[in-house]
Amino acid sequence: MTEKKQKKSRISPMFRRTVSHFFTKPATTKYPFVKPKLPDDFRGETQYKVKSCNVIELGSPDLLTLDVRSIVGVNCSVCVRDCPANAIEIVEVDGKRRPQFNFDRCVFCYQCVESCPRKAIKSSELYELATTDKKSLIKKPNPNETETAK
Ligand code: SF4
Ligand code: SF4
Repeated sequence: MTEKKQKKSRISPMFRRTVSHFFTKPATTKYPFVKPKLPDDFRGETQYKVKSCNVIELGSPDLLTLDVRSIVGVNCSVCVRDCPANAIEIVEVDGKRRPQFNFDRCVFCYQCVESCPRKAIKSSELYELATTDKKSLIKKPNPNETETAK
């Protein structure tokens, strides 16, 4: 094979591949301009309901609730115990000890959602947590709101 033919045989597949990309669907998405469709079991930022931390829900749809403070106390801390990333710590808010979530450590395993006996920690579809301010990833419990506050 002549040198010219060898060069041509090398360029030809490359050229064909390049041209083929003009007619194929892009592998990338248009995020952030177009939000992705999330799966049903997507694990986003966990949401903590301060008010639920003292009650246990016994089934639905009747939403039967029972105040179990006298039975299990107000500081059950099961979420802290079960978090594999050590991302939850108990802090004091209005004289009550409550869980505080550190999302810079969280691995979004949802063990806390599974473990909480009072269904006080819920899943969410929030995933845009990127920040240059690490402190903003610490979610302090706010007793005046139903969801976790910054
Ligand atoms: S999702 Fe997992 S890592 Fe994150 S706070 Fe809950 S238990 Fe810890
Ligand atoms: S496991 Fe649930 S009820 Fe217990 S401290 Fe954590 S959030 Fe509150």
